[in-house]
Amino acid sequence: MVRVRFAPSPTGPLHIGGVRTALYNYLFAKKNNGVFILRIEDTDQNRFVPGAEEYILESLEWCGIKFDEGVHVGGKYGPYKQSLRANIYAEYINILIKNDKAYYAFETSEELNALRKDYESRGETFQYGINNRTKLKNSLTLSSSEVGDLLNSGNPYVIRFKVPENKEVIINDIIRGEVRVKSEIIDDKILFKSDGLPTYHLANIVDDHLMDITHVIRGEEWLPSLPLHVLLYEAFEWEMPEFAHLPLILRPDGNGKLSKRDGDRLGFSVYPITWKDPKSGEIYRGFREDGYYPEAFVNMLALLGWNPGDDREIMSMQEMIEAFDLRHVHKAGARFDPIKAQWFNHVYLQARDIKLVAEEFKNELSKLGIDITIEKAEYISEMMRERANFVKEMVTESMFFFKAPEELDAKAIKKWGTEKSVEWINDIIEKFEEMPTFESSTIDEVMNTYVKERELKAGNFYNTIRICIVGTSKGPHLSKIMQYIGKEETISRLEKGKKYF
Ligand code: GLU
Repeated sequence: MVRVRFAPSPTGPLHIGGVRTALYNYLFAKKNNGVFILRIEDTDQNRFVPGAEEYILESLEWCGIKFDEGVHVGGKYGPYKQSLRANIYAEYINILIKNDKAYYAFETSEELNALRKDYESRGETFQYGINNRTKLKNSLTLSSSEVGDLLNSGNPYVIRFKVPENKEVIINDIIRGEVRVKSEIIDDKILFKSDGLPTYHLANIVDDHLMDITHVIRGEEWLPSLPLHVLLYEAFEWEMPEFAHLPLILRPDGNGKLSKRDGDRLGFSVYPITWKDPKSGEIYRGFREDGYYPEAFVNMLALLGWNPGDDREIMSMQEMIEAFDLRHVHKAGARFDPIKAQWFNHVYLQARDIKLVAEEFKNELSKLGIDITIEKAEYISEMMRERANFVKEMVTESMFFFKAPEELDAKAIKKWGTEKSVEWINDIIEKFEEMPTFESSTIDEVMNTYVKERELKAGNFYNTIRICIVGTSKGPHLSKIMQYIGKEETISRLEKGKKYF
């Protein structure tokens, strides 16, 4: 039975890289009829950020990524929040101590800093481990009564992992292939602190074991910790899960990891939903608030570092589940392309039920104080969505439906206007006035007949009229706009527009 977990630390908002990790875990679990677990790794109390856990839950829910077990849904393997599991870790660190796989160390942070400086002055880097641990202040060098005294006197201490000597750690990562590391370069990482809490490494391994995790799928930034984790599994004599480390998401220019600053600087989101920093009050924009549909966002994200084995790009969650395979995750970093991201939303906007688009359009409009019926909203949406990536964009691009343009585009007038423009406008006003009804098809007939009879250049004529109605030479089908605004308003705009030609 496949069991995978997403294990974020509530230290801030979830970057899109984190969402992608959750997504791949989800796709993998569903593909294999497995179980997907949400575990909150909050043992580092100093980095705790209020609101971050709620943010993570809300983001994943928006994306349609669902959990079978976890902090918010429960399950047999709980609690799923590490701060509620302190007694479990204490039990397991004692096993390591008892089996001589871990030891107490008593250096204060000042002493460690002094050691670091000392090494640096000799051009070396200090690393607590195989090469110097027998010369430092710890339970490998002190007598057991000295250790007992130090512990009883309430001295702060840490418990470090005792990395085995002369070992080559061999790991098979599903995505990276074989990784070999000599144990000498791994330091004796802190596993437990005198505040009674474990560090990430111990808690992560113990939980993955106790929760029967079969595959650890996580970001590349955890690859350097993998040798240590493998050694920990060996020290406990536990069976290891399989590992898959996902490639980084890179900046659009390919230079380095996508960071929150890039988003601000280049004008796109790097967070799924808006995040307000509780300390600084700063607001970071989110894909949701930028107007993305969650399906489009998730589709785009899935293809940042994975392909379905063919050249499909538009895929539903179900299709992605069916196609998902870790062997098709790329090794190299995946460039985030903000334009491509918009394209995904464009495609989803075109395919969406027009009734839903109309509702969204109507809602966005009413935020601007413009209220129209749902039928009208549908009429405009049909026309405007082809050109738009987002409903919000449809709204800003369709203001001429609701009010006459304040100014007419001088460049367009220069391009399309002729000395005959005013005459054409006058003629067409006259013809419109005679029309008993005012519908797109009859308006087209009237204008087409006029163009033919007078043998006009269609581009000049239609753009002259369009500039009066829309303000510029762009926009959807002209007679449909006229039908919408009605005869009176059409004529009024033509009268006003005339003066510019
Ligand atoms: N808590 C770690 C994080 O925040 C989890 C890493 C892992 O999946 O092992 O990314």
